[in-house]
Amino acid sequence: MKRILITGGAGFVGSHLCERLLKEGNEVICLDNYFTGSKKNIEHLMDNHYFELVRHDVINPYMIEVDEIYNMACPASPVHYQYNPIKTIKTSVMGAINMLGLAKRVKAKILQASTSEVYGDPAVHPQPETYWGNVNPIGLRSCYDEGKRCAETLFMDYHIQNDVKIKIIRIFNTYGPNMNPGDGRVVSNFIVQALKGEDITIFGDGTQTRSFQYVDDLVEGTIRMMNSRDGFVGPVNIGNPSEFTMLELANKVIELTNSKSKLVYLPLPQDDPLQRKPVIDLAKKELNGWEPKVQLEEGLTTTIGYFDRLLRTTD
Ligand code: NAD
Ligand code: UDP
Repeated sequence: MKRILITGGAGFVGSHLCERLLKEGNEVICLDNYFTGSKKNIEHLMDNHYFELVRHDVINPYMIEVDEIYNMACPASPVHYQYNPIKTIKTSVMGAINMLGLAKRVKAKILQASTSEVYGDPAVHPQPETYWGNVNPIGLRSCYDEGKRCAETLFMDYHIQNDVKIKIIRIFNTYGPNMNPGDGRVVSNFIVQALKGEDITIFGDGTQTRSFQYVDDLVEGTIRMMNSRDGFVGPVNIGNPSEFTMLELANKVIELTNSKSKLVYLPLPQDDPLQRKPVIDLAKKELNGWEPKVQLEEGLTTTIGYFDRLLRTTD
């Protein structure tokens, strides 16, 4: 049994990670400030004696003895990370420093949830880990993109300078149950709009692309990365290479929900990447043949079921 700290554990991805790592027989400490996460996501784990919930903000140091740390704390939706950009960058940078300091002191292995956003609006398509990216340092998305880039740098420097055992994953757009229905990301927006019969909001002309990964595939890749061979630190892309335009996504959601919603077109936000698709050869090679198993239609169907139940109980 390992003792594992998950920062941001009450969020969308973190809650799935808590559940899976508990199921595998570990002791899990979930740390969160509830900015975008919710106790609801983890309340079903509260009766488990090996689960502990801590309200804490990663911009402040935290003392505990653990074997592993999954550093997931950071708002991930543009609407939320742009709400207080200075706080977002503090969360990524000071959060990384605090968690790396903890890992160094207790000799824990630490994994950083980085992002495909480190590639910015990519000039290389699809994106391999060797691509350095095309990021605006002073735009609306910079607090998130540059914060995550700086966190990667800190992880590498603590590894090289202090011998901290690190792992870095670059997560591509991920969706599934426990997403916050109001967090503004495209999959949750479209599903909630379709289920309520409201207009579906396409930003720009809808030809921009994303590659959508179901959360179970991400959790599997994340845990395999934590357990990967000692000499491998990443960064490694974890995503599903099946690429869709936002128009294709909207039409798929309408079809699967049998909705009468109409499409409406709104301006494309500043610096919105026009295309995004991971190269996952490195993950396949280093993570024991890992590859995504859940394709869009299957994952959307499960996620639609989740939001449908959620809307029925909250309306
Ligand atoms: P989320 O917003 O649902 O979860 C983030 C969690 O971190 C929330 O529970 C929030 O309350 C918590 N948090 C935020 N700031 C904090 C702070 N200062 N101290 C303590 N807790 C704090 O987002 P998510 O989709 O679950 O993303 C999890 C991680 O994965 C994030 O680091 C995100 O950047 C990364 N990521 C996610 C995606 C995706 O598509 N879901 C893509 C790329 C990277
Ligand atoms: N998007 C959209 N309608 C929405 C929300 C988002 O068309 O209601 C678009 C957005 O402009 C972007 C894509 O969907 O091109 C993915 O947006 P999201 O916020 O989910 O993630 P990110 O831009 O960080 O990949």
